[in-house]
Amino acid sequence: MLTILKRIVDEVNRQPVLEKALAKVAQMVKESMQTECCSIYLSDDENRHHLLMASDGLALNAIGSVAIRFDEGLVGLVGEKEEPVNIANARSHPRFLVTPQVHEDAYNAFLGAPIIHQRKVLGVISVQQFKAGLFDESEVAFLVTLAAQLGAAIAQAEAREAIDRAENPALKTRSKSLKGVGGANGVAIGSAFIIQPQVSFTSIVPKRTHNIAREIIRFKQAVKKTQQELKVLSGKMTQILPSDTSAIFDVYHHMLNDDSLGEKVQEQIHSGWNAATALKIVIESICSEFEQMEDSYIRERVTDIRDIGQRVLGNIVAKELARRALPDELILVAEEVTASMLAELPREKLVGICSIKGSNNSHAAILARALGIPAVMGVEELPLNNLDGRKTIIDGYSGHVFFNPDAVVTREYRSLQVQEQALDSMVQTIASEDACTADGVPLSLSINTGLAADFEVVRGIKADGIGLYRTEIPFMVRSCFPSEQEQFLLYERALDAYPNKPISMRTLDVGGDKPLPYFPITEDNPFLGWRGIRMTLDHPEILLVQVRAMLRANIGRGNLQILLPMITSVAEVEESLRLIEQAHYELCEEMEMQIERPKIGVMLEVPATIYQIGLLSKMVDFFSVGSNDLTQYLLAVDRNNPRVANLYDYYHPGVLEALHYIIHRCHKHSIPVSICGEMAGEPIGLLLLLAMGYRHFSMNAQNLLKAKWILKHLSITQAESLLAQISDMSSPQQVRNSAIKMLDELGLSGFIRAGK
Ligand code: PEP
Ligand code: MG
Repeated sequence: MLTILKRIVDEVNRQPVLEKALAKVAQMVKESMQTECCSIYLSDDENRHHLLMASDGLALNAIGSVAIRFDEGLVGLVGEKEEPVNIANARSHPRFLVTPQVHEDAYNAFLGAPIIHQRKVLGVISVQQFKAGLFDESEVAFLVTLAAQLGAAIAQAEAREAIDRAENPALKTRSKSLKGVGGANGVAIGSAFIIQPQVSFTSIVPKRTHNIAREIIRFKQAVKKTQQELKVLSGKMTQILPSDTSAIFDVYHHMLNDDSLGEKVQEQIHSGWNAATALKIVIESICSEFEQMEDSYIRERVTDIRDIGQRVLGNIVAKELARRALPDELILVAEEVTASMLAELPREKLVGICSIKGSNNSHAAILARALGIPAVMGVEELPLNNLDGRKTIIDGYSGHVFFNPDAVVTREYRSLQVQEQALDSMVQTIASEDACTADGVPLSLSINTGLAADFEVVRGIKADGIGLYRTEIPFMVRSCFPSEQEQFLLYERALDAYPNKPISMRTLDVGGDKPLPYFPITEDNPFLGWRGIRMTLDHPEILLVQVRAMLRANIGRGNLQILLPMITSVAEVEESLRLIEQAHYELCEEMEMQIERPKIGVMLEVPATIYQIGLLSKMVDFFSVGSNDLTQYLLAVDRNNPRVANLYDYYHPGVLEALHYIIHRCHKHSIPVSICGEMAGEPIGLLLLLAMGYRHFSMNAQNLLKAKWILKHLSITQAESLLAQISDMSSPQQVRNSAIKMLDELGLSGFIRAGK
């Protein structure tokens, strides 16, 4: 059953045209379930009906024209109930709808299952049978499983087609947006620029071409280049492999020289597909044919065909990439936006970010916020290969992305951009003031940094130091661990950004969604795995070098504080303190001088630490609350997973209670505490944290002035009244609504949604 399911779903991904894919699915389902009819309807929300898109069994001329209203017929019933409907005799069911055009008089038994993706009904798949009687349990299970898998594939195909339709001005369709999660506030308008680290056939979204001659040349050049590469490779291999193993290269050569492969690809190009798509269609259809063969030798050739196809594809795409010029207003679109991509692209051109993977608290989103670049994360349906060069709008507030937006949408967003600029100029007017509340309570606002480029930004901003310097980012954009001297130079710059003000440097916090390319960590649950201090305590050589570089940079400056990430236990703090002491002792010996000891702090981000505040406060000088991870671990929601993004919420009553508890315990033990998670830079977060008693906030540089403005227009009493109001609320949404209401009343709503 699994094989059949996989083959059917692959068909949707493989077929470039959705109608054709669905027709094939209907045919395959009918065959494998041995029934008399299978039909697929897609839901049209605007017109509130399900449109018959494919059928093997109903009248052919009904396809594309018969629509069943959401509240009509058995198909409508499946959509309404959002569950399978299994009926022995459809015509005697009260919801049976006579639709003469479909010619279904002969069918009696009916089984329908909803096609759902991200809680939304996208359509209905049904099977029908002449003989009256219920479909059996295994048949229901099969159809439900298939429908669940079809959901994602259909959503992707629909997104692809919506973008294509919008490109065609003759169709005059209104812009449709794709929805992700807002990663960094702001609006960006520019051209999509796709970066794909590794191309694979599954990531190729079918694309048409008008320039057939150019695509044929592109294909032929890629084949030639692949032949040359194989020659070099086989030369190397024959020296180390037995001749029968290296003979595989002869097979590859043979395949490439085989005219039939080339001819088939060229045929597809002539029918209007570009080179990459044509190759995908041919390779996948050969593989699908071979996979069904009885002969195991032939079946195994599938791997070779894919491999050789992959090599040619790599060369087609590489050529395309090399020729690409960077647009002036570049919107980076990628499967997974990484720190190194951001570091490589020129800052003056990069205006927006859109990522298939990741969520609002992934580190890529945090970087985007630090750079002030609007970002949308987790746009799962993004047809990557179909987007390069398209006009794109990013709405980082709501998480919407528009490709080929129409003039009305573009005008709306341009005017929002103007309003945002006005907001920026407004907050600039208080840039040189000290931070305090409307009733004069002094506050400390510091900055979170990590990217080298930050320092340029940071220097011009009045702040009370750096509350979090994420040292892992310089490690991530290199090809090996940086030397002590390289780190020393970087840390000197960080300490000089705010002389005489505390700079909290966090020791390496890799793992989770921050991989080092030269130190791969493969784990099933990376966020529960070898992260932060756990990894560096196992590799004291890395920690010692880093601490030495920090201590050396601090000589003559004296504003260093060291912050320990992902601490879970007292033993980890003891061990870290011992290593810091060792680095200090060795340096003093080497340099024959007394070096200042920095203050040491612990990140409160693993829930266990908040119940050890008493013990830990005796060991270190300060705490910093990492609300990003604290939320992830308290709610058991991966901060990087867009599927559960709606569950990741700082305003969950449980998280708020924990934050309240932390400040209470820290006051009791008279230990300084600040908060450096993203929540500290958000208007609602600031409001609630202020009311709880937090007075030290660290946030990205882009948010600092806005935060200062909000706090200046808010009194402690107002914040406390909000906290009292929300104290018995049960859902994050209720908390958010109350806070938004207060921000509206204070005239501060421009800080939470697009526009002023
Ligand atoms: C946090 O977890 O809140 C934090 C500040 O650290 P990071 O986002 O780098 O994990
Ligand atoms: Mg953290």
